[in-house]
Amino acid sequence: MDLNPSWIDEFPARIAELDHAHLRRRRRVVTPLGGARLQIDGEPMLAFCSNDYLGLAGHPALAEAACAGAREFGVGSGGSPLVSGHSAANAALERELAAFTRLPRALYFYAGYATNIGIVPALVGAGDALFSDALNHACLIDGARLSRAQIHRYPHADLGALDAALAASPARRKLVVSDAVFSMDGDIADLPGLLALCERHDALLLIDDAHGFGVLGPQGRGSLAHFGLEGPRVERRVLYMATLGKAAGVAGAFVAGSDTLVEWLLQKTRSYIFATAAPPLLASALRASLRLVEQEEERRTHLQRLVVRLRAGLAPALAGTGWTLRDSSTAVQALVVGRNDEALALMEGLRERGLWVPAIRPPTVPQGEARLRIALSAAHTEADVDRLVAALLEAAARSAGTRERDRNAAASR
Ligand SMILES: *Cc1c(COP(=O)(O)O)cnc(C)c1O
Repeated sequence: MDLNPSWIDEFPARIAELDHAHLRRRRRVVTPLGGARLQIDGEPMLAFCSNDYLGLAGHPALAEAACAGAREFGVGSGGSPLVSGHSAANAALERELAAFTRLPRALYFYAGYATNIGIVPALVGAGDALFSDALNHACLIDGARLSRAQIHRYPHADLGALDAALAASPARRKLVVSDAVFSMDGDIADLPGLLALCERHDALLLIDDAHGFGVLGPQGRGSLAHFGLEGPRVERRVLYMATLGKAAGVAGAFVAGSDTLVEWLLQKTRSYIFATAAPPLLASALRASLRLVEQEEERRTHLQRLVVRLRAGLAPALAGTGWTLRDSSTAVQALVVGRNDEALALMEGLRERGLWVPAIRPPTVPQGEARLRIALSAAHTEADVDRLVAALLEAAARSAGTRERDRNAAASR
């Protein structure tokens, strides 16, 4: 046996380091119990963790459509889209996504992560410049790195800094990428402002609307619609990307834009060309989902009422805790507590009361900004939200009390 020390034997110690830093993650086995209830590792929980913002993931019409799709097309797509995987179901879904987003053409992918890591390098490369909001989703960051373009990371939502960086760049091809709704904070990017800057500096704008699609705008048409952005200005300069595993309740993603830009992406996106197309049964389910997203406005109104209720309930409790509830009018509500261990303790305290709210730690969020990410859904009732608020109020009072005692102890020393 080879007894020379090897880096390969260091992984146990490296995993132990994750433990020490409260950064070790683990999965839980989850079974849906209906509504916003989940069985998590065997325990029934009221969950505030799902991106199923409209409560469609468990809808019988989607399951029925998926089964019908499987019977009609089989389960697997059998190939990559440019060879033989582009089913009639996927083609129909693309047409419907384009119509739904009011953009000329859409390209349907099997996952959002694969979309962004593929389309960014298809748009810019070495010698080009890419401008990225500091809080963008990991897959936009990874796509930027893969592209080999020069990356300019601007402070979150700081359009002044972006303007200056665009003005200073000598690159001829410039791409601005931004989440439309930031996934760990819930705030909405100033899309009209971003578009105006892109026009001024002749940049292309790619927005990732994973958390806005289905939720924001009339009929849930997404963040562009939320701002009333449509027509030739948008088609010329904007690529709209959104995921289909969140509000749409199924899986996958798409990018939409002008015929030409989408044609270019079809030709050049490696994660599209070299991957098996999504199973047609998912497209069947998604087509059923799109109809519900469009028609059932009540899901969005209910969700909006829950957002207001949660914020109104929590606001008075935060004084003296050192916690802050980030400004957000969307389903994503971030309660920033700061330290990793404090966020984990808070999560654990809620878990003991049957409430499941995930603690999010670095590197998903910046150092020192560990938080509970409260995700609301149309599947929640007002009573569900009240239960969470009551538990958080108790925890807040305890935390404020602890801080007070710490201060007094420090003062008397
Ligand atoms: C979830 C998410 C993705 C990834 O989409 P998947 O379909 O889960 O791969 C991309 N961007 C943002 C902002 C997301 O929140």
